[in-house]
Amino acid sequence: MADVGVVAPNSVVASETDVPAIIFDRVGVAYGHGKKTTHALVDLNLRVAVGETVALLGPSGSGKSTALNALAGFVRPTSGRVRLAGRDVTDLPPAKRGIGVVLQSYALFPHMRVSDNVAFGLKSQRVPRGEIADRVAEALDMVGMGDYGKRLPRELSGGQQQRVAIARALAIRPRVLLLDEPLAALDARLRQSMLAELQRLKEALPDTAMLYVTHDQAEALALADRIVVMNDARLMDVDTAENLWRRPPTSFTAAFLGGANLIPCTVGRVIGTSALVTIAHKTVSAEAPQPRTGKVDWAPGSRALLCIRPHALQIVGLGNRDALRANVNATVWRGATTRVVLSVGGMPDQLIEVDAPGNAKFEIGAEIGVRIPEPAGVLVRIPT
Ligand code: ADP
Ligand code: MG
Repeated sequence: MADVGVVAPNSVVASETDVPAIIFDRVGVAYGHGKKTTHALVDLNLRVAVGETVALLGPSGSGKSTALNALAGFVRPTSGRVRLAGRDVTDLPPAKRGIGVVLQSYALFPHMRVSDNVAFGLKSQRVPRGEIADRVAEALDMVGMGDYGKRLPRELSGGQQQRVAIARALAIRPRVLLLDEPLAALDARLRQSMLAELQRLKEALPDTAMLYVTHDQAEALALADRIVVMNDARLMDVDTAENLWRRPPTSFTAAFLGGANLIPCTVGRVIGTSALVTIAHKTVSAEAPQPRTGKVDWAPGSRALLCIRPHALQIVGLGNRDALRANVNATVWRGATTRVVLSVGGMPDQLIEVDAPGNAKFEIGAEIGVRIPEPAGVLVRIPT
């Protein structure tokens, strides 16, 4: 806002927007020392563009919150630097970073009214008193809580409290908004409506970079421009949701994002990004993608994993000649689909999951056919 009245040449504006809103530069965080050291985050490199939403997705304990806390200033990196809009903030206290933070636990001050909770960051930023009321009203309006300023947090539902927490984060008009599992404490229905609301908020804040921590792939898919898949303190993969889902670079991402059958196979003939592979004595075609960086050698004769999504497989009659013969191991009805778990002849120790439409009923042990699509799936490297 200091630039008001100064007309910047276009070239300056362009290069300004080229500076990432967030940079993690080889950030490592270790808790404890000696034999009790936990490496919670190892060498995280990540850039988030102005206005971009990036989800950190991974199982519990994979280092997601640690990454967010390192950026917010709640934990100190053991190595590496964090930058906001090009400025190294590694040594700054949290309040000086100009970041909005929303946590799963809401963390509202229980004895303060909603409006005072939202005003809190503005007061510590020494925003003039006359302006504070307007900014609080604006922030509460953004989350549909304009009429609740006088309430205490305990007079609100969980969803409403989380809205207030979001309003509090937005009141300081942050360029960077960090959200750590903000919907995890809400029930399933409320989570859906809050997710839609976060999507709207994202559209309403086109210049705000968001880092969204979640273990829930549905939230990541719904909100993120790019997804970072975390596992065991490390960034496993980063790309658009669509790329990660269609051509998962690692078996971890294939399984964590969307669920997948990962069937060991032998690579046969390869032409461009297409390969013939053999599974259960059957030859099928598969996508053999090249990653955007580096190169994978899908050498004929080498072993790989064939990733087939459960919904891509089809249960058919035994008369179908192209089908694999399989036996039903278990069925789990999920509402719109039934997850059918199968063991397939010629694939010992390998269970195959198929999502059949509706409430598909099979006897345990029943023999059925499984039709494999064309191409069958996408090749994924065997983890080393
Ligand atoms: P996530 O948010 O992905 O669930 P965290 O970043 O919270 O994971 O934790 C990553 C690892 O660091 C876990 O093994 C966790 O137990 C450990 N950890 C997190 N916070 C602390 C802490 N304050 N002291 C010691 N270990 C911690
Ligand atoms: Mg966490």
